[in-house]
Amino acid sequence: MPKAQETILEIDLKALKHNFEYLKSKLKSNTKFLAVVKAFAYGNEANEIASYLQDLDVDYFAVAYTSEGIALRDAGITKPILVLHPLPISFKLLIERCLEPSLYNEKVLNEFIEVAKTEKQTNYPIHLKFNTGLNRLGFSENDIVAIHSKLSKSSAVKIKSIFSHLAASEDLNEDNYTKGQISSFKNITEKFVAIFGYKPLLHLCNTSGILNYPEAHLDMVRSGIGLYGFGNSDKENKNFKPIASLKSVISQIHHISKGETVGYNRAFKSEASQKTATLPIGHADGIGRQYGNGKGYVIINNQKAPIVGNVCMDMIMVNVTGIDCKEGDEVIIFDANHTANNLAQSANTISYELITSISQRVKRIILK
Ligand SMILES: *Cc1c(COP(=O)(O)O)cnc(C)c1O
Repeated sequence: MPKAQETILEIDLKALKHNFEYLKSKLKSNTKFLAVVKAFAYGNEANEIASYLQDLDVDYFAVAYTSEGIALRDAGITKPILVLHPLPISFKLLIERCLEPSLYNEKVLNEFIEVAKTEKQTNYPIHLKFNTGLNRLGFSENDIVAIHSKLSKSSAVKIKSIFSHLAASEDLNEDNYTKGQISSFKNITEKFVAIFGYKPLLHLCNTSGILNYPEAHLDMVRSGIGLYGFGNSDKENKNFKPIASLKSVISQIHHISKGETVGYNRAFKSEASQKTATLPIGHADGIGRQYGNGKGYVIINNQKAPIVGNVCMDMIMVNVTGIDCKEGDEVIIFDANHTANNLAQSANTISYELITSISQRVKRIILK
């Protein structure tokens, strides 16, 4: 691997394959796999990742918004794409690009049916989301009769799947709550089948659901964070390989005397003579201000160098006192060993937030 000479995010497709195969090994052979590639595949790079996963034979993709699905179609993704949270303003475009909406209340269902009729569609695939306790989006069990009478008046759409989302599948202290969600989803699906007379695809599990609730895998599972290398527990993290390495380089080294300050608002005051390194990565690249003032750190020459003072828009300064380094040396912000999960924890957040924050300004390099 050539050393980084600027701030880069390296994406290791071999690690992606490892994670995909590990997750698949948890499933029955006929359980379908939906890869969640919303938000640029969690900040990594959606097009290359989705193309690679398409070649590995995933069954389905999901994104959050219609524009993300359109970008995947433009990149040559031909597999079905579920749009988890499409807004009515984008329904016409969504149909034009053969994307499949998740519909979650009467208003969006009615609006989608109207657009599907206008676009002269029959049996257009839709997915119904049910709320089983996350209380974010979703129909309730009581809506099934009304949905049925609505759909029996129109052949514009056809329900391809019904699904729900777990609130705390990674937290075994909430095991009872999760089991309650699993059983209410079961009631919903039984009622649905009784009223509609057919069984669409059923799906409930995200990554931690796959790992912790094999009884709830049903017809399909939806994984995001696991594909990118995180298992949401110390035990499971060992079975995954983080696919992304965020690297940078030392732009300048400063020798600071006792009493001098570093950075904006003079947030860091030196209590002894120290050496700092300035790096070309800041909050505009995704290293938020919460990592400043000693919380976050980078790795230089295998040693931890804490962030000194406030994070700037385009730069951070790190304490390299006692670290053998020079201008131009490579810096690791996170990689497979010094994980994004650990760095996120240093600032009281989670891997999901750190990796999805890496901005589009950072160059992506795909390792095949
Ligand atoms: C984002 C999302 C997922 C993926 O969750 P992970 O914990 O990343 O596996 C699955 N389902 C829905 C509805 C989501 O919004």
